[in-house]
Amino acid sequence: MNSSRTWKSGERCRVTGSYRCQNCHLAGREMVREFEAGKVFPMCDTCPEKDVTWRLLERTAPVRATA
Ligand SMILES: [Zn+2]
Repeated sequence: MNSSRTWKSGERCRVTGSYRCQNCHLAGREMVREFEAGKVFPMCDTCPEKDVTWRLLERTAPVRATA
């Protein structure tokens, strides 16, 4: 069981939703991206660090591509 709402770059996303880069947040930047469950969290585009922490802000309904 894992109740954490934060994940690091390279970890697998388990909840589809909006995530905030904590590193940017601490630096005063606003960086919010949407990730789907199953995706691997990427590095942040604007952070100089290789590994950043993504924090779940809000769950969103899963979006499935219709072929
Ligand atoms: Zn960032």
